[in-house]
Amino acid sequence: MVVIHNTLGDKKQEFVPEKKGLVRMYVCGPTVYGPAHIGHARTYIAFDVIRRYFEYKGFEVKLVINITDVHDDMIEEANKLNTTIFELGDRYTKRFFEDMKALRVKPASAYPRVTKEIDAIIETIKLLYEKGFAYETNDGVYYDISKFPEYGKLSGIKPNKSITGTRVDTDKYEKKKAQDFALWKKAKPNEPYWPSPWGDGRPGWHIECSTMSTKYLGLPIDIHGGAVDLIFPHHENEIAQSEAAYGIKPFVKYWMHTGFLTIRGQKMSKSLGNFITVPELLQKYDARVFRFFIVTKHYRSQIDFSEEAMEQAKNSLKRLDEFIQRLYEVELQGNASVVEPILSETKVSFEKAMDNDFNAPAAWSAIFKLETEVNKLMNENKMTREAAQAVIEFLKKIDSVFDVLSFKKPEQKLTAEQEKLIKLREQLRREKKFEEADKIREQLAQQGIILIDTPQGTKWRKV
Ligand code: AMP
Ligand code: ZN
Repeated sequence: MVVIHNTLGDKKQEFVPEKKGLVRMYVCGPTVYGPAHIGHARTYIAFDVIRRYFEYKGFEVKLVINITDVHDDMIEEANKLNTTIFELGDRYTKRFFEDMKALRVKPASAYPRVTKEIDAIIETIKLLYEKGFAYETNDGVYYDISKFPEYGKLSGIKPNKSITGTRVDTDKYEKKKAQDFALWKKAKPNEPYWPSPWGDGRPGWHIECSTMSTKYLGLPIDIHGGAVDLIFPHHENEIAQSEAAYGIKPFVKYWMHTGFLTIRGQKMSKSLGNFITVPELLQKYDARVFRFFIVTKHYRSQIDFSEEAMEQAKNSLKRLDEFIQRLYEVELQGNASVVEPILSETKVSFEKAMDNDFNAPAAWSAIFKLETEVNKLMNENKMTREAAQAVIEFLKKIDSVFDVLSFKKPEQKLTAEQEKLIKLREQLRREKKFEEADKIREQLAQQGIILIDTPQGTKWRKV
């Protein structure tokens, strides 16, 4: 049984999917006007682990991540670069996929893009308009939050009645209250636009996620996520829109929010000069090390990036890499019984930790405990090749959730003596001294080296 901390209600709840065996997840995607930064990477890696754990448990997962390719910031950036939001969007969507692949984030089932979903978005706005939740002004269409009494139920931030719009109105010119938000923004000169019943314009930000999550996953959605910065206003506004437009409450069963990634305790920002993009990160660090740094933390905790933290991650990962290499080198034959109790205990601890709101730090302490215990067995020469193989298979299964370990077999090398014997045997075969040649074959077989004679010469492999 998986238990999830639901931001809605701020409590842990047993996860019960709407459709048995299927998890339908929507995670708010990037605004594509620049390269992904390591804060984005934190959030998408965290949700990747959550998705993979559901798969480990046997669920099918349908994950949708939207691509925000119309946005005020994008228009500004496109104008600055003398290009269009379409070119900018194509360029950085492609880069986003490349960055996620480099970080071993599994692809989502769908990546709907706002510019391709305008008709569906207009339909949602129409519904809100017809149901009396929206009003039109001179510059756009707004959501009237006073019509949605439950506004604030996710974030706890209730609308402040005393705050009003810049022009409190009866004249339909601007939004009525400061907290009302735009569903449709009427186009100003030099802005991209689409036709709508309210004139040419573009959607506001929040409406895209209400529309696309519903269109691609159906209602109610099992899990909807993003980082904590999205709780208010973005997700609060999504609830107001979706529950008003489609009438299904709650429109999301479990709201999950990842903690922010900071750099040396500070928020990442271009003006502070501490902004690190994914390509910049990967120039300096192995993707596996960064991923390890992220997946060993709780998804809800704020995490602080620093060179020291990366160095620490690198060392811990090296320790695990060496452990796996050592397992490959165990030679003693026998059965796997010596590790069976360790494996079953680790499995229980790992699943108990992950079932409990994806408590990765607790899951990793179980893995490190296994490493200590198995290393002890290897030091005492009690490990067998079969037991080592069982540990490797076990770790592979667990790593299907984290995808950070390396299972590359150590390079196979012969000793100088063994190489000499192989050459000697080839010589003896050329001289048709097959009996002596066979003796060498047997001698090497006893050392675990199998010889294969091919037309290109004698090849070998270790068993
Ligand atoms: P954005 O491109 O800013 O719309 O963000 C895309 C996703 O990344 C959203 O889920 C954000 O909440 C998340 N995100 C942005 N900055 C950070 C950060 N510093 N740490 C963690 N997640 C972040
Ligand atoms: Zn969103």
